[in-house]
Amino acid sequence: MSSVRDMKCGCGIPVARRTSWTHENPGRKFVACKFYNAETGQRGCNTFEWLDEDIVDWKRDVTNVLIVEKHRLATDNSILKSRIVFAEHENKRLVEEVEKLKQKRKGSNPLMLF
Ligand SMILES: [Zn+2]
Repeated sequence: MSSVRDMKCGCGIPVARRTSWTHENPGRKFVACKFYNAETGQRGCNTFEWLDEDIVDWKRDVTNVLIVEKHRLATDNSILKSRIVFAEHENKRLVEEVEKLKQKRKGSNPLMLF
């Protein structure tokens, strides 16, 4: 049995090893012609072979749910990151404002101490 590494496609070049992220076959590994372009559907040759066995229904469903959840968490994460940046700016601004008020107060009444 020849290993995947030695496999060549119809174009005579080593096959590309990829992972499918379609709804039907999430996370399933396959080899295909390196010239295959998923966006245009153009291919150098028709070489295509799944490396993993057919995905069972419950695994497909669980994987698809986890993919959706992962996207949701990534979105939440970027929202929270931008909130942190905003809060840090706001904190800096407030610290500066407090300093200004302290200076102002010292200037108006030299006997009053903070
Ligand atoms: Zn090819």
